[in-house]
Amino acid sequence: MSAKPKLAIYWASSCGGCEIAILAIHEKILDVAAAFDLVFWPCALDFKKADVEAMADGEIDVTLFNGAIRTDDNAEMAHLMRRKSKVLVAFGSCAMEGCAPGLANFADRAQMMRYIYHDAPTVDNPEGVDPQPQTLVPEGTLTLPGFWNTVKTLDQVVPVDYYLPGCPPEAKWVAAAVEAIVSGQLPPPGSVIGMDVTVCDECPRERSEKKISRFYRPQEIIPDPHKCLLDQGLLCMGIATRAGCGALCPSVNMGCRGCYGPNEGVDDGGARMISALASVLDAKTPEEIDTILDTLPDPAGYFYRFGLARSMLQRTALAQENGDRRAHPMAEVPHLDPKLKT
Ligand code: SF4
Ligand code: SF4
Repeated sequence: MSAKPKLAIYWASSCGGCEIAILAIHEKILDVAAAFDLVFWPCALDFKKADVEAMADGEIDVTLFNGAIRTDDNAEMAHLMRRKSKVLVAFGSCAMEGCAPGLANFADRAQMMRYIYHDAPTVDNPEGVDPQPQTLVPEGTLTLPGFWNTVKTLDQVVPVDYYLPGCPPEAKWVAAAVEAIVSGQLPPPGSVIGMDVTVCDECPRERSEKKISRFYRPQEIIPDPHKCLLDQGLLCMGIATRAGCGALCPSVNMGCRGCYGPNEGVDDGGARMISALASVLDAKTPEEIDTILDTLPDPAGYFYRFGLARSMLQRTALAQENGDRRAHPMAEVPHLDPKLKT
């Protein structure tokens, strides 16, 4: 029997970018293969859930879990991987903060289903068919996982040992995490693997005293390549975002979007950014403030693009907070053990 530690990699509600980020560590993937027995990685190898279920609790040494939790299936797998793993890593922004899937928390399940299956301009659904949680076919009953109203982060569903931020995490930090795991030199449990400071601390652009009189979209101006983008009116989340990417976006004239999440000690990156901007707007009256903010389309999308599910807001109020949650197609599947839902 192999003495190598066991590694699992799993994705829940994600885009697949985090899986690609693992491959982006290039030849270090051979170190991973040499150091670990890969016991579960459905994206790359033909493992089944039953293989994991058959393992003893705690048998997997490390699980890298990417993707947010938005379905009964995601939650079931999060609980299963937690139970079977000694160390569970929230890998990437979706698992850590909700990321792009978490933007769904600006709506609810009914609104999304209505748009996706009925109202979107590209939809052709003359009979108004909705996906059903259960469908009877001659061979038996087909089920779809229940679809939640609220997207959650991994640690809102199960305890998490480490966090690897980024959308996706930069290869050097994936490699650093792998090396730390291989050498057994992991930081204290609960740590974020990466840097504590902000993207501004990594950014070579020259900053001056800010006075913003309007915001520009990237296509509206050609920015000075040496000056801070925010000083030039281009929204840049660098001041409220954890460093670690090497200020990649500002280095190509794009404002930081905040994909590494808030820096150490900040609970709500959006609130931090709003507070920082409030102090540099060149306005004296509420009307002047409104005029400047009118040049910033979709502020909620800017400030909470990656972190809504983890933020203090977490989501918008549900229209039917106490209504029948199973009334809509894709309501939670009844067979799922209720204790798996949180
Ligand atoms: S963190 Fe980014 S790259 Fe990773 S799964 Fe989510 S959206 Fe994709
Ligand atoms: S461009 Fe962005 S990351 Fe760079 S110094 Fe300005 S605010 Fe910070």
